Amino acid sequence: KTFNYEFDNRSFKGETSVSLGLYINGQFVEGKKGETFDVTNPSTGEKLTSVCTGTKEDVDIAVKAAQKAFDTTWGLKCPGSQRAAVLHRIANLMEKHIDEFSALETLNTGKPFSWSKKSDLAMALDTFRYYAGWADKISGKVIETTEDKLAYTRHEPIGVVGQIIAWNFPVMLLAWKIGPALACGNCVILKPSEFTPLTALLFAKIVHEAGVPAGVINIINGTGPKVGQAIAEHPGIEKIAFTGSTLTGRKIMEASGKSNLKNVTLELGGKSPNIIMDDADIDQAVEWTVHGVFWNLGQCCCAGTRIFVHEKIYAEFMEKFTARSKKVKVGDPFDPETDLGALVSDIQYNRVMSYIEAGKKDGAKIVLGGDPIQKDGYWLGPTIFTDTKPNMSIVREEIFGPVGVIIKFKDDDDVVHQANDTTYGLAAAVFSKNIDRALKTAHRLNAGTIWVNCYNQLHAQVPFGGYKQSGIGRELGEYALENYTSVKAVHVNF
Ligand code: NAD
Repeated sequence: KTFNYEFDNRSFKGETSVSLGLYINGQFVEGKKGETFDVTNPSTGEKLTSVCTGTKEDVDIAVKAAQKAFDTTWGLKCPGSQRAAVLHRIANLMEKHIDEFSALETLNTGKPFSWSKKSDLAMALDTFRYYAGWADKISGKVIETTEDKLAYTRHEPIGVVGQIIAWNFPVMLLAWKIGPALACGNCVILKPSEFTPLTALLFAKIVHEAGVPAGVINIINGTGPKVGQAIAEHPGIEKIAFTGSTLTGRKIMEASGKSNLKNVTLELGGKSPNIIMDDADIDQAVEWTVHGVFWNLGQCCCAGTRIFVHEKIYAEFMEKFTARSKKVKVGDPFDPETDLGALVSDIQYNRVMSYIEAGKKDGAKIVLGGDPIQKDGYWLGPTIFTDTKPNMSIVREEIFGPVGVIIKFKDDDDVVHQANDTTYGLAAAVFSKNIDRALKTAHRLNAGTIWVNCYNQLHAQVPFGGYKQSGIGRELGEYALENYTSVKAVHVNF
């Protein structure tokens, strides 16, 4: 069965066709039980199609296919230069179909087409190309030990890797996972989010066209408890790379520990601080702060949701920030003028609204937004709270919606203390024209990424990952290669 859709919008006229099956061992199959789940267009609330769901048995079949591919056509059997060529072919084919990918991503996530294309797809292409560059440069070291002996290291692929991802950046997260895994010679079983399975299915079509050997990439859709759990527990999977909530991250570690002690990397949630010092360029800070907190409707693990503003510039910042936030255009995701589309699902919508209600009940003041936009689908605009207290749920918990809290501070020690007062540690930002002060503050913040006078800068060559309960390990850059290789030391007596 396939999903066929004709787009005729202000951004894109064209069509897409994706197979709705599981992609296992180089083929689309229905799955052992032939079960399906529904997929929705969040900007209308309408059902788009039903996608095949896998089972434990399907995961097992995929693992066997992946193991066979690892031993025969991929892994150490395939020279790095050939793996690089495959990754380049994938990127080139995605680029050829970039409008189709972007439109499908928009249809399934509700995010604006312009952002799907210039951000998510662009980053996915960069990531595949960046790791194509690494594929033939992964090598060990020679280490001299004694006069007549030496050791050398080999960075070998791990084997079959399970990859489980979230719905906020489906195709980009897929690239962050599959790019480095394949460059290092691993085979993968990827489970997209059950809310956003469609671009991964289009990707499977590309994989086929790019001539990736059967079994090297397997894509199994389905829910977390069903397919995700089966991946996390499978004894034939040597490693899990996960992107999602901290709660699910714990479950994955538990399942991995109980099965075969898998190597686990986790990219989890956040509640990132964004600090505006009294010597900041206020117009610049306002522009980046709006982007930092509202980009992708705040459905962003690194969203700058705790906005700390120095008391000396509070009034001016608030006036400009509120005025700028009012100008953010929420609407038809296929309209080129749109900044923000719809939230991804009814579940997410209800979750965000319940936080807004809790904030009001706890006594925080809403200075913008907070009311649902009356439309079919899941709509909510930029929402700003002030007058919060440190223990309120809107200050402490990840909301994953377009909701920011503004917190006044007095001095640098005070703001560093408050910024670090969280169980998360994914990202943070500092705005100051005094670079010495900005960098000193950056070094004191407990987070894996710090932006100075900017926000949401992500590049394939720069590592990304969390301190504390925001994660374990780093994605992107040279650092991600460590996630996907085992180091072997060989001692030689000569
Ligand atoms: P989620 O944890 O609900 O789901 C993520 C994935 O895990 C989905 O594919 C889901 O099906 C699967 N899953 C659910 N239960 C499972 C289980 N028991 N075993 C195995 N797999 C299971 O998260 P979400 O709602 O899809 O995404 C939002 C979260 O992701 C936020 O907390 C956000 O901060 C985080 N996130 C982090 C990053 C990062 O790089 N740090 C990036 C994007 C999103």
